[in-house]
This record gives sequence, C-alpha cells and structure tokens, in this order.
Amino acid sequence: MRLVVDLNRCQGYAQCVFFAPDVFALHGEEALVYDPHPDEVQRERLARAVAACPVQAITAEGLDGTGETGETAAGTGEAVLHGR
Ligand code: SF4
Repeated sequence: MRLVVDLNRCQGYAQCVFFAPDVFALHGEEALVYDPHPDEVQRERLARAVAACPVQAITAEGLDGTGETGETAAGTGEAVLHGR
C-alpha cells in the first residue's frame, strides 16, 4: 500500500494516530510523521484512520485491494517515518 498525507491540509488532529499508531505519529505539537509504505497488516487500521481524518488529508492507494485480512498484528518494526 502507498500512503500520502497532504501536510498542508493536515491540522494535527491526531485522529489517524489514534486509529493507526504504528503508521502515524505526531512529533511535537503539529508535525505529523508517517510510514509511506505501510504493511498489509495495517490495512484495517489505515482504513479507519482515513475515514476519521476530519480534513480528508490522507490518501491511501491499495486500501481496497484484493487481500483479505482477517486479523491484525503488531507493527513490523521496520516503519520508515517520513517528515520532520
Ligand atoms: S487525522 Fe488528518 S488532520 Fe489529523 S493528524 Fe491525521 S492527517 Fe492530520
């Protein structure tokens, strides 16, 4: 999956961090960092995060892909955070 957050639109509400803490994180008060290539196990959480963002700043490609994920797992531990 590919993930893009429009940081100009993002207001730092942290809804995404709440729903997908292994993908999103807030640095300081407003700087959002995120994993641009989240693991498949994050699909469900990511879908919730996308839906929860009050300003629709999150774009995720491959969210409605063919893969069925019946379970969620802990993060892979290899997240590459992007941002400042
Ligand atoms: S939920 Fe949306 S506005 Fe809030 S921190 Fe995440 S991307 Fe930014």
